[in-house]
Amino acid sequence: MAFQNKKYFTKKLLEWYNPNSRPLPWKKEKNPYFIWLSEIILQQTRVEQGLKYYLKFKKNYPTVSHLAQAPEDEIMKNWEGLGYYSRARNLHSAAKYISSELDNQFPQTYSEILKLKGVGEYTAAAISSFAFNLPHAVVDGNVYRVLTRFFGIELAIDTTIGKKEIQQLAQELLYLKNPGLYNQAIMDFGATICKPKGAFCEKCLLQKKCKAFQNNMVAILPIKSKKIKKETRYFNYLIIHQNHQVYIRKRKEKDIWQNLYEFPLIETKKEISKASLLKQKNFFEIFFDQFYGILSFSDSYVQKLTHRTIIARFYEIEVNNSFKANKSDWVCVNKKDLRNFAFPKIIDLYIKKF
Ligand code: SF4
Repeated sequence: MAFQNKKYFTKKLLEWYNPNSRPLPWKKEKNPYFIWLSEIILQQTRVEQGLKYYLKFKKNYPTVSHLAQAPEDEIMKNWEGLGYYSRARNLHSAAKYISSELDNQFPQTYSEILKLKGVGEYTAAAISSFAFNLPHAVVDGNVYRVLTRFFGIELAIDTTIGKKEIQQLAQELLYLKNPGLYNQAIMDFGATICKPKGAFCEKCLLQKKCKAFQNNMVAILPIKSKKIKKETRYFNYLIIHQNHQVYIRKRKEKDIWQNLYEFPLIETKKEISKASLLKQKNFFEIFFDQFYGILSFSDSYVQKLTHRTIIARFYEIEVNNSFKANKSDWVCVNKKDLRNFAFPKIIDLYIKKF
């Protein structure tokens, strides 16, 4: 597709951009390792939330070798509350790869950076342009939005043809004398002016030639072909108290929250009552003919993830010294040590009340 006003777009975008208007600690950074940290932390995370994690990781792991050598549980604990935990696992795995295979030297080309676990095309373009000024245009949600609006592109951005078209256009718009600066400009523009809701068209420098503005299409672009259907899952957590200890386990399975800790879980297809919980097969298997007493149970806690909503209830259960856990992956920990383990946010919220 031939698009008009490409030069105008790049020129006006750079005219608008002031690198100091949104000062962030990674903006002037040239160390690819720190840029990588910031990019992974900021994936699906608001800048305000990611900032303190970035500073914490930079301080705790000042080099890629420090990160590679850190125990996984410690990294997960430092990541706690940020969500999308596969990012932390991939970060660790990539750090180990850089340390062992690349002699602690961060890769310096787009294709080598793209080989790192957890690094997709967007992140590889960001790192290679910010750290090494290589000519690779970033394309993420911000860029899709800005380009579909300005150029009036009505192709669905979640289709192969839509993605290909926009990626090609993004690459053509890149300011080759300073790709890093251009990439930062378009990201900032999408985040602060051409926002998903409430775009500031009135004060936008591109308004005069913006197709979406001219055709009253700002609210409907970009277009997506399908809406993601959200699944709801119901978690019943058993907090089994034995003297001053409780049982926890590590989530090893390929599912949400992999490698985080949780209490023994009974997942059900819908929200259930206490009476119904006692009749669950899994509940019976845990306690069989052993003594237990339910002390209390909580209201429902809700955590919204990208593709799922989790509704959890916590049952406080007391057992005596003779209770034996029949699950090999359960560990008994002192209640006061719970804060040393990384839990999903919904559990963390609950145990803060202990
Ligand atoms: S005029 Fe509005 S829709 Fe067009 S680029 Fe500017 S902010 Fe985005």
